[in-house]
Amino acid sequence: MSSKALDQFLNENLEDLKSKGLYNVIDPLESPNGPMIKIEGKELINLSSNNYLGLATDARLKEAAEKALERYGVGAGAVRTINGTLKVHVELEEKIAEFKQTEAAIAYQSGFMCNMAAISAVMDKEDAILSDELNHASIIDGCRLSRAKIIRFNHSDMNDLRTKAKEAKESGQYKKLMIITDGVFSMDGDVANLPEIVKIAEEFDIMTYVDDAHGSGVLGKGAGTVKHFGLQEKVDFQIGTLSKAIGVVGGYVAGKQNLIDWLKVRSRPFLFSTSLTPADVAASKRAIEILQESTELHDKLWENGNYLKKGLKELGFVIGESETPITPCIIGDESKTQQFSKRLNDEGVYAKSIVFPTVPKGTGRVRNMPTAAHTKEMLDRAIAIYEKVGKEMGII
Ligand SMILES: *Cc1c(COP(=O)(O)O)cnc(C)c1O
Repeated sequence: MSSKALDQFLNENLEDLKSKGLYNVIDPLESPNGPMIKIEGKELINLSSNNYLGLATDARLKEAAEKALERYGVGAGAVRTINGTLKVHVELEEKIAEFKQTEAAIAYQSGFMCNMAAISAVMDKEDAILSDELNHASIIDGCRLSRAKIIRFNHSDMNDLRTKAKEAKESGQYKKLMIITDGVFSMDGDVANLPEIVKIAEEFDIMTYVDDAHGSGVLGKGAGTVKHFGLQEKVDFQIGTLSKAIGVVGGYVAGKQNLIDWLKVRSRPFLFSTSLTPADVAASKRAIEILQESTELHDKLWENGNYLKKGLKELGFVIGESETPITPCIIGDESKTQQFSKRLNDEGVYAKSIVFPTVPKGTGRVRNMPTAAHTKEMLDRAIAIYEKVGKEMGII
């Protein structure tokens, strides 16, 4: 029996969300999360996954996973620091460091977990973190967990960052300072101004932390936003995920050897949560090898992204200022956005609406994530459906 207080809380709040059109309904897939997906028996063009390079269903990754499964079994059996570090974990970390051109790397169970782990291993209540206002939820939670003072700066506003960095430094109130930013902001597809961030950090002796979940595999010929700007030597923490472009699950921090050594003894998810499964680790390692061998998937992703953007823009949709293949189609009003997404779905395109609180009120959008695995025909069909629904709803 649940308590009355809980029931009352849940019912009121669920009703409230539903009445405002903010309640998210989850549609389970009956197929792999590839360029085409199946939901309730219906085939749809999938423009909502983070599977940028199509690696989630790649035969080479499946083969690597199967081999590791045969060799090691399904689970790692313990946390990393007891005896849950298998040879594949070490091989993956070496591969990540090589790919990111850093001295070392440490793998975690997810990208979210990286931010839970790394920020609070270094920062505490005597410190302050300068955080972009649009940073990912896991960064916000990671910052809170550290108990450091959080100083938000306006999104990608380098004047605001400089002012606040200077103030924080000159106040003498804080022991350590850190600037944290997403590499690529996933709602708009814009890229952080890392050269300027690094400059400000150097000027005031501030640590730099870049969460590149959406940049890895996409920018810098696949190696990410930091590489894109040639700043491998200048960014202290490079966070990445193995669940988006890499197509599997997991996350990592890449950086100097002493940083990684510290995280291995002090970051709590590494010490107290069981390590990644052998199959996931082996598949992730294979994915990175594929990215090192050739830029074919990366190039195809960009080609498809540019093609979709051009098509939607020519139809008159507002697609924002994305600098990556992420293509938001901004509708504005929350319920109209949801209605638009639903109509696209009826016609055969799966493109999720993203509304407040994930993005600011009044900037509801349908976000399109083309991948390397889409064909021109799929994209043409999607664009034709956008045109039909856009005209029907008076959006274009
Ligand atoms: C998706 C994302 C994460 C979480 O990564 P997972 O591996 O899915 O847990 C963390 N940070 C940013 C910026 C992200 O976009």
